[in-house]
Amino acid sequence: MKIEHIGIAVKDLGISDDLFSRLLGEEHYKQESVEREAVTTSFYKVGESKIELVAASNEACTISKFIEKRGESIHHLAFGVEDIHAEIARLKEAGFQFISEEPKDGADNKVVVFLHPKSTNGVLVELCQEKM
Ligand code: ZN
Repeated sequence: MKIEHIGIAVKDLGISDDLFSRLLGEEHYKQESVEREAVTTSFYKVGESKIELVAASNEACTISKFIEKRGESIHHLAFGVEDIHAEIARLKEAGFQFISEEPKDGADNKVVVFLHPKSTNGVLVELCQEKM
């Protein structure tokens, strides 16, 4: 595993894009909407890892609810894995719970799955694997 990216929940992608491009000294390399999740994402390269800004497309989506509860902040930690099905099996065996055990299409050409924060010390953990 490696830290593939860190997801940050933001209210306004335009304002946060401006902030992060000044912070990191370069523009995002991709902006992408994930309609199934009702979010728009913006990606920055930071060495071997990435920052993913995540903004809600509507008020009912999980990012809106997250921001309502906790404000804008770090939303999830994403581990890049080679074989997502093997990792899901390994982590289930080790007692971890998943929000959904079925990998779904995510942003940035990945399939993704999320562990439930109640089994990971309150941290939302994403596993992601590059799509073939
Ligand atoms: Zn992510």
